[in-house]
Amino acid sequence: MHEPAAVPAPAAVPAAVWKNSGRLADGREIIYFDESPGSGRAQVRDTRDLSDEAGPATGPESGIRWDPLAGEWVVIAAQRQGRTFLPPLEQCPLCPSRPGRPTEIPASDYDVVVFENRFPSLYGAQPGPAGPDGAAAAQAGSGGTPEGVGGTPARAGGTPAGVGGTPAGAGGTPAGAGGTPAGAGDTPAGAGGTSAGAGGTSAGAGDTPSGRDSLTARRPPTGRCEVVCFTADHDSAFAYLTPSRARTVVEAGADRTAVLGAMGGIRQVFCFENKGEEIGVTLHHPHGQIYGFPFVTPRTRQLIGQAAAYARSGNGNLFDDVVASELSAGTRVVARNEHWTAFVPAAARWPYEVLLFPVRRVPDLPALCDAARDAFCELYLDVLRRFDAVFGSQPPYIAAWYQAPAGGTATRNDFGLHLRVMSVRRAPGKLKYLAGTESGMGVWINDVVPETAALRLREAR
Ligand SMILES: [Zn+2]
Repeated sequence: MHEPAAVPAPAAVPAAVWKNSGRLADGREIIYFDESPGSGRAQVRDTRDLSDEAGPATGPESGIRWDPLAGEWVVIAAQRQGRTFLPPLEQCPLCPSRPGRPTEIPASDYDVVVFENRFPSLYGAQPGPAGPDGAAAAQAGSGGTPEGVGGTPARAGGTPAGVGGTPAGAGGTPAGAGGTPAGAGDTPAGAGGTSAGAGGTSAGAGDTPSGRDSLTARRPPTGRCEVVCFTADHDSAFAYLTPSRARTVVEAGADRTAVLGAMGGIRQVFCFENKGEEIGVTLHHPHGQIYGFPFVTPRTRQLIGQAAAYARSGNGNLFDDVVASELSAGTRVVARNEHWTAFVPAAARWPYEVLLFPVRRVPDLPALCDAARDAFCELYLDVLRRFDAVFGSQPPYIAAWYQAPAGGTATRNDFGLHLRVMSVRRAPGKLKYLAGTESGMGVWINDVVPETAALRLREAR
């Protein structure tokens, strides 16, 4: 049966998206996001014999291990070594199937399609009870619902100090995890107050082993990895999608965020795109990925911790204030519209790095209203085309969505959804490598001045 994933408001520009799911030969789920009803694609059978596929390795060599020195989980995924690596065009597994040449997508055409990764780093999460505090349950089924999903009022500032805050040591995070500086003078915001929570314990006690257990802590790689194909056209790229196709991709991301976030064991949904061989992309076909992690990621913990510390020291919402501060400075703003602002962050790490924030703060993709979804597509396509114009060709980039954790009730309303686009290219033909200071010390050295990068992007069309 066809089940509309989104009911558009009467004024919505793009049509509704129809979501239909089926199964591949080895049981993996495939979900078609169709731009018109009645395609019948989900009913097309996968004719491949995948019965001798090894499947994800489940031995002790794979899994998630705790790094007690850094206070972070590391995913060991040995089975991924066998994955498809830069196949020739005629063997692309993301193109639609043709007679005699079946691919991962059994249908002969598609708009946007999502399927479970054949070589997943994380797998086995099942629909079921959500994270410990159950907030993900509130998201379940909210996929693509416009306006107000999750009941998050866009409340500018006004976060009472302490709300969502992280008492030092709560949950037993190893001391100093996540960059707790020695000495208040090191960190600009609220001396003293910044330490607690910077490592982000707020995300739930189960996430962080402590004491001697932390020396050998491991857990199964429970989670989910999905692939999102943006178009059936092998030679296209996100930057060249139509706004309505980009909108269908956003619908798919919102749907998967809600569905995966409601699965048992998943604490964080991450939608992203790696673009270009230089980033390590193994398939050229335009696609992104969605990971459902069984823990809150270090970057998210950091964002939550910083926002909590900022609020505790008597300020409003950190995400709101960062955007307001960029707008008021103006020198790093790249482009904006009624619903979104794109700017190079003042302390950009990558040579070309742009953050896109909605004007009305929301915690995640499902909470974006219809108008904001449309406006995002307009601005994001504009920003990507500016990247192309600066380099004279499509640069390699990483696009990463930062969303509130699934089930993070305490912090959900204070989190600010945003997209970060980062190009590893410094100049035509020159790449930025994560070398000694970045890989060894976590200190980034960027030799492109952010204001200059913003100016080039602003002027590039
Ligand atoms: Zn292809």
